[in-house]
Amino acid sequence: MIKKELSKETRDDLKNYFEDRDYAVIAVPKREPLRVYVIKATNTVETARRIHNLSPGATAVLGRALVGAIILSSLVKHATDQKVLLQIEGDGPVGTVVAEADGKGRVRGFVSNPQAETLIKETDGRKKFDVASLVGKNGILKVIKELGMGTPYTSVVPLISGEIGQDLAYYFVQSEQIPSAVGVGVLVDKDGTVKQAGGFLVQTLGRMDDKIVEEIEKRVKNLPPVSSMLEEGKRPEDIAVEILKDMDPQLIGLKEIEYYCPCSEEVAKASLLLLSEEEIEDLTKDGPAEVVCRFCGRVYRFSKEQLKEKK
Ligand SMILES: [Zn+2]
Repeated sequence: MIKKELSKETRDDLKNYFEDRDYAVIAVPKREPLRVYVIKATNTVETARRIHNLSPGATAVLGRALVGAIILSSLVKHATDQKVLLQIEGDGPVGTVVAEADGKGRVRGFVSNPQAETLIKETDGRKKFDVASLVGKNGILKVIKELGMGTPYTSVVPLISGEIGQDLAYYFVQSEQIPSAVGVGVLVDKDGTVKQAGGFLVQTLGRMDDKIVEEIEKRVKNLPPVSSMLEEGKRPEDIAVEILKDMDPQLIGLKEIEYYCPCSEEVAKASLLLLSEEEIEDLTKDGPAEVVCRFCGRVYRFSKEQLKEKK
């Protein structure tokens, strides 16, 4: 593993290369057993908004979930066959929320009601999307980890806030036994497009001095929303340095993030091959049968003859 000091030069290099790209950085302090993960996913969430024609409220919800899935992918190895699926089933108008990320930073997702009405709440005189009401405060958060071999590992926790960030922090503590702080956020422009989207994860991986724990907790609590910091022109590495200031922050990992759906004709066809002969007859009586991918909207068409091959 190449360790790089987060010097001004390193940060300038990253800045030029990653100007308009989405990426995540992992940084650690020199001594303390802490890990900080900061994500910028603006283009990724905008792609999701366009694919699903999301309302501003649904953009905020799915955007947070997509960033959340990327945060959860810190639990798997850097490989495409290692995946984490985040599923939120709340009683709010947006319905089921699904987001999946692989170890290489490829993410995709959908919500069952992309046109959910946008609910607004006012906090400290500022108008914000009411994500908790859109998701619903009662329900479950499910995480399915696929480690590329054998049965996937599933765990479920109740929703504690519906804001997604706090729910993920609760998941990390309950199911992974890792004390964590999580922030996820999406800024939506007046025209409904995504201005900024991102998030952070701060985890303690061992025993630390109480004073340092307190200091980190204070910093995280006072941290402005990541989407606002990105809007001010800060980059993920700058935000990581801010969280770990005076602790010799080192960059230990960086990965590009993109909205990517690995669906294929084979997978789409396989979903139809489970049908009986009569069901295939029925589906194809007015032309080819259609399978629409829920994650990317791609349409696959199969004629009766194609479906009867290899049966
Ligand atoms: Zn797809």
